[in-house]
Amino acid sequence: MTRYYSINNYLKKIFNKRVYKVSIDANLGCPNRDGKKAYGGCIYCDKNGSSSRTQEKNLSIRDQVINNILIRKTRYKAKKFICYFQSFTNTYANVDYLKKLYDEAITAHPDIVGLSISTRADSIDEEKVKLIASYRKYLPYVSIELGLQSVHDKTSILTNRHEKFTDFLKALDIINKYKLHSVAHIILGLPNETYDDMIKSADIISKLNLSGIKIHLLTALKNTILEKWYKEDKYIPMQKNKFIEIATDFIERMPKDFIIYRTSGSGYAKDIIAPTYIYDDKFQILNEINNLLIKRNSHQGKLFNIFC
Ligand code: SF4
Repeated sequence: MTRYYSINNYLKKIFNKRVYKVSIDANLGCPNRDGKKAYGGCIYCDKNGSSSRTQEKNLSIRDQVINNILIRKTRYKAKKFICYFQSFTNTYANVDYLKKLYDEAITAHPDIVGLSISTRADSIDEEKVKLIASYRKYLPYVSIELGLQSVHDKTSILTNRHEKFTDFLKALDIINKYKLHSVAHIILGLPNETYDDMIKSADIISKLNLSGIKIHLLTALKNTILEKWYKEDKYIPMQKNKFIEIATDFIERMPKDFIIYRTSGSGYAKDIIAPTYIYDDKFQILNEINNLLIKRNSHQGKLFNIFC
């Protein structure tokens, strides 16, 4: 039994079995890349827009879903699935077009039980949240995932994110108004962030009305600004032990009912320049975080609220 409340534990409680995500690339682009907000995107984002690249862009949404489900059924004997709009900014279009995409995904296979939309806070408004919330009529699990990465605006500027923490808070208020699952993505090891900066992020995030968090380790992918910084020694990847320690410190500060969606790096394995351990040791890292919690005689929530 893990000492943190993992997404697998949560989904098993709801569905009585493991539920698998199927990634979708809707080719929606991003306002932080196409000039509406900025050009070039976040320093760590590659041309695939933070995709796991398990899908092919030339496939329809329906075919991406069916192919991914088939792979998981064959490989893992999976029975239930969540459609996960993962790449780029998945609310960056008008509501009618978004509805068409989401409808196509959730009707592609009878074993779909959830819908998860990953996006930027500045690309969400009430009309879009209302649309996403409408899928609860058909699906037991519907969530919106927002890239926050850090609560510190100085980091957002340095990483070329072009969003403020207040943008995130405004979007979260709308999501909570419609009582949807809300997930914040955060990144550990961002340039110029000290240990205290990361722990401050943890303490602030722990007080928000969120369903859970995804903890990523900053990774330099091929053909990104971060790759250039890495080659120029302007970005030093976090050592594995340090990442495990800080991710564990982070989890200890989260309330017990926050779902921990993920604790690892992002990116397609072949595109990761550094640190490569994050891909090789993905499951080992999860075990090591749990082992460290055991060694500390600790658990998620142990340090929630006691320092502020
Ligand atoms: S907001 Fe997301 S998709 Fe857009 S550039 Fe940043 S990481 Fe990439």
